[in-house]
Amino acid sequence: MSKLFIGVDLGGTKIYTALSDERGNILKEIIKPTEASNGYEQIVEKIKESIRYVSKDVKEDKVVSIGIGSPGPLDVKNGLIVDPPNLPFKNFNIVKALEDEFKLPVFLDNDANAATLAEYKFGAGVETTNMIFITASTGVGAGAVLNKSIYRGSTSNALELGHTTVHYSGNRCGCGNRGCVESMSSGTAIKKQADEALKSNIETSLRKYEVVTAKEVFTEASNGDKLSNEILREALGYLGVAVSNAANAFDPDMIVIGGGVSEGGQIVLDIISEEMKSRCLKPILNNCVVKKAQLGGKAGVLGAVALAIVESNK
Ligand SMILES: [Zn+2]
Repeated sequence: MSKLFIGVDLGGTKIYTALSDERGNILKEIIKPTEASNGYEQIVEKIKESIRYVSKDVKEDKVVSIGIGSPGPLDVKNGLIVDPPNLPFKNFNIVKALEDEFKLPVFLDNDANAATLAEYKFGAGVETTNMIFITASTGVGAGAVLNKSIYRGSTSNALELGHTTVHYSGNRCGCGNRGCVESMSSGTAIKKQADEALKSNIETSLRKYEVVTAKEVFTEASNGDKLSNEILREALGYLGVAVSNAANAFDPDMIVIGGGVSEGGQIVLDIISEEMKSRCLKPILNNCVVKKAQLGGKAGVLGAVALAIVESNK
């Protein structure tokens, strides 16, 4: 039997824990609700219960290590979850808590880095040397594998690509800046554009829905609705600008696009490719492949597994 690893994807709504082999094959998994408003102690307890559950039928020495992906900000060096907006932790040492309990090495990283590692080890980016992962859903996040290692930067906050400016005086972003790609291209931004447009008397098939989210805009765009297509052309155009900037900055072999927005179909990759053609330097453009992420909802937990594998092999 091969070596085994445990991944924990700690999120604001659920805790997804899995036992996996070195190839990312999940052997046993469990999902528990985070119930963040009930405090951090019960979250730690649920993580411990989940780890016990997935590892209970395997010999103790088969499990090599545990990886945890968590929303930031984190202090990765010291194993701390600092104070994420959607979790009740304040400088909590999750690494020590789990190492004391399970007597195994525990590795922590932010969820974007974990998802990046997942696509690099088990998904679209296998075999690449330099890979950028960009995820657009409620927000826009990113991560980079450079020279086959995850790149964290000096304060482990590298690749905050969602907060790079793509419009000098664009929409106000949650971070306080204006015109961040997150404020122009996220699912939230697409919904906001649609809601604004619906206040006018413009003709659009979006009116048949009681509530319009990015999903309905994608659906109606593919049904030929002019307004929906215009909204997406602009939002995804800005995403294409950010992707082009990342390509020009890092000269990667591959850029992987994930998150809810990437589920919007071929239109997403088409618009991004179009922007890259006019904005990227030719040698970079000719070498860089843009692909849709492959792991979907398992990216987080497989990323935590990938983190455990990569860090254990150091
Ligand atoms: Zn921002």
